[in-house]
Amino acid sequence: MKSAGGWVRGLRDVALLAVQLLAGEFLAGVLVGGISLAAAQAPPPPDAKFQPPLICGIDSGCRIQHYVDQDPGPGARDYACGHLSYDGHNGVDFAIANLAVMQRGVDVVAAAAGVVTHIHDGEADISMDETGPGDSIDGINGNSVTLTHKGGWRSLYAHLRRGSLRVRTGQEVAAGASLGQVGLSGNSNFPHLHFTLHYRDWIIDPFTGAPQASGCAVANDKQDGGGAAAQNLWGPDATGLLAYRPGGLIDAGFTAASAPSQDLLQGLARETALPADSPNFTFWAAAWGLRRGDSETLRVYGPDGNLVGETFDRLEQEGALWVRQASLQASPPWPRGTYRATYKVERGGSDKTLVILDIERNIEVR
Ligand SMILES: [Zn+2]
Repeated sequence: MKSAGGWVRGLRDVALLAVQLLAGEFLAGVLVGGISLAAAQAPPPPDAKFQPPLICGIDSGCRIQHYVDQDPGPGARDYACGHLSYDGHNGVDFAIANLAVMQRGVDVVAAAAGVVTHIHDGEADISMDETGPGDSIDGINGNSVTLTHKGGWRSLYAHLRRGSLRVRTGQEVAAGASLGQVGLSGNSNFPHLHFTLHYRDWIIDPFTGAPQASGCAVANDKQDGGGAAAQNLWGPDATGLLAYRPGGLIDAGFTAASAPSQDLLQGLARETALPADSPNFTFWAAAWGLRRGDSETLRVYGPDGNLVGETFDRLEQEGALWVRQASLQASPPWPRGTYRATYKVERGGSDKTLVILDIERNIEVR
């Protein structure tokens, strides 16, 4: 607890709302059962490299939340041997910041030229936490488009926004053609595009060209002569969307009172200024990809630059998505002016510390 300008305000608590939103997302694209394609049988390269399957504005908060599970066993590893996957995940999840961004519309585009061989529309954009899992392929994928490309390749675009599909079955599309928009349909509990790449009956990881469950070391084995060389199937990525990031910020801001984490995550509780007579002052931050042992520090500074409150915590469990709130409570009025808040997450031990994120937000109190 610190004092600033004669008033004492403590960070009342850091309401830890570990939102384990993601465990329920399962995709059944083309089922391949127990078939596994050894690395030596890696598919031939496609005619053309694939392009990122969505168009992200600078404020869309796009990130890759999950990769293809490359762990052959019951665990989950992404192609970089990181933890951005879950057991059996068969595609790449491109997440966007929140529902407000979804409603503005984020375009999903063809990763390569092809023919539309399946579409499904009409599924509501409702979290599966409310509706339960689907009981058919279309119910699971939600609104979706499947493209068939030359040479035995197919791509699936799932969880699209209801009514957003812009193609019909049999239509030829060019690479980059708009297919629809990112949504929340099917087995999805956060707005995202699930993208699966197939070669014949196999699920292929576009980051390595290797089949699902090949082992994450494939990506690191390019030079050892063992089997076919792993190769990234993506073409140029001007936006950096495809760069590997182990975690980061989803969103952060201020509210006049603490709010349900879902509201914060969905961008529903956000102030651009706070009244001086506000009974509460809450700074919140939502992050993804955090791991057990990560340390988090939230700080709030008053208009005079002095630290008003500070809190530190170390995560005790894994969390795909996290929402943190630091609430200041005291008798108004608050000193007017610009308040600054910071949120920092660090990973690692004494010898090497990795800064996962370090952000700052300002707000006016009037
Ligand atoms: Zn997925």
